[in-house]
Amino acid sequence: MAHSVQRPKLARWLAETNDVTQTFLSAGLIPGLINMAGGLPEPTTWPASDLSTLAAKAVSEHPGDTLAYGPLEGLPILRDLIAARFSAPGLSLTRENVLITTGGMQALDLIGKVLLDQGGLIAAQSPAYLGALDAWKPRHPTYRPMYLEREGFDPVAALRGAQFAYTVPNFSNPTGRLVGLEDRHQLVAAAEATGTWLVEDDPYGTLYYDGAPLPRMLTLSGKGDSTYEGPVVYLGTLSKELAPGFRIGWAIAAPEVIRALVTAKQGSDMCTSGLCQRIAHDAFAAGLTERILPNVLALYRLRRDALCAAMADHLHGLFDWEVPSGGMFVWATARDPELNTDVLLREALAHGVCITPSSVFDPEGRNRRSIRINFTLNDPDKLAEGVRRLAKATLAASAK
Ligand code: PMP
Repeated sequence: MAHSVQRPKLARWLAETNDVTQTFLSAGLIPGLINMAGGLPEPTTWPASDLSTLAAKAVSEHPGDTLAYGPLEGLPILRDLIAARFSAPGLSLTRENVLITTGGMQALDLIGKVLLDQGGLIAAQSPAYLGALDAWKPRHPTYRPMYLEREGFDPVAALRGAQFAYTVPNFSNPTGRLVGLEDRHQLVAAAEATGTWLVEDDPYGTLYYDGAPLPRMLTLSGKGDSTYEGPVVYLGTLSKELAPGFRIGWAIAAPEVIRALVTAKQGSDMCTSGLCQRIAHDAFAAGLTERILPNVLALYRLRRDALCAAMADHLHGLFDWEVPSGGMFVWATARDPELNTDVLLREALAHGVCITPSSVFDPEGRNRRSIRINFTLNDPDKLAEGVRRLAKATLAASAK
C-alpha cells in the first residue's frame, strides 16, 4: 500500500522490457535444452589453474591494488599496459586515453549517460547488439539504422546530426558480419567530417577464423605522435579473450571523452574490481591470452564448421545464411516471409533448443524474420542435434 504511488513507474519499466528477451535469457535453466541463444564462450577454454595462481599472487603481493578502493580510472599499471598494447604506428596512446570499466557493458552504459541526451539520435549498425539497446533505453533514443553492407550506403549522411555512431565491426553481434576495410576508412572519415563520436565495440576482435585481422578504426583514425584526440571511442573486453566472469573491459578515446566517462563511473560503481584488474594485468603481461588463443580459435572454427554443415543438412530451403569468418554467431533469415521468429522461439523451446529471435536486436522490435545462432558453447554433436530440433520447430512454427 505504502508504495502504490510508485507502482505505475515500475509497471511501465517492466512493460517496456521485451518478454522475448526474458524468455531466452532464462532458457539456460531448462534441463536438457540445447542453448544456442547466448553469446557464451566454452568454459573449458578458461585457463582456470593459471588464473587461480595469479589471483593468489595478486592478493598476497599487492593487497593495496586488490583489496582497497582503487582509482576511478582503473589501476595505472593496467591503463599503461592497455595503452601500449593498442598503440600502433601512427596511433599514440597514453594512460589518459584509457578507462578501465566493469565489462564492456559498463562502457556502453557510461556512453549513454555522457554522450546521449533524452531522445537523442544514434546512428547504429543494424541490427544492433541487444545489450547496447538495453543500456541506452532509459534515454529513449531515436535510432537511424546503418546497413553498412548495402550498396549506396552513405556514411556522412548516416552520421550527420547523430550524437554518436555505434558499430561492432568485427563479427557483429548479432549478424556475425565483418565490416570491410573500405567501410572502416569511410566511417572514420565521416566521423571526422561530421564531428560525430564513433563507438567501435570490439569484443570479438581476436576471434578471426579465416584470414588476417583488419585494422581497428581506432588505429585508422590515429594522427601520429601526439596523444590520441580522434573521434573513435574503442571498447574492448576480456570476456571473450579470457573469461567473462572477470568483468574487465576498457574504453580507449580522446582524453576529454575519458574524463567525462570517469565522472559518470563515479556515480555507478566507484571503481572496477582491483583484484580482477591486477589479474588481468598479470595475465596480459605473462602472455596468457596469446597462449590460449590458438586453441580457442581451433575449437571455435571447428564448431562454426559443424554448425554450418548441420544447417546445410537440415535448414536448407528453410533459411538463408552466410558463413561468418569469425566471432560467435550465425545469422539466418527465414525463406518463409510469414514466419515470425518470436513464435519460432516458443516452438524451439518446446522442441528443446533455444535461439535468439531478431526482434530483440531491432529497437522497434519489427524485424521478425531472422534468428541468431551461437556456435561456441556446444560441441559438434550437440550443435547437430540442436539444428535438427530447430528444423522441426521451424516447420511447426510455419504451419501455425
Ligand atoms: N558488446 C557486444 C557486441 C557484446 O556482444 C558483448 C557481450 N555479449 C558486450 C559488448 C559486453 O561484454 P562484457 O560486458 O562481458 O565485456
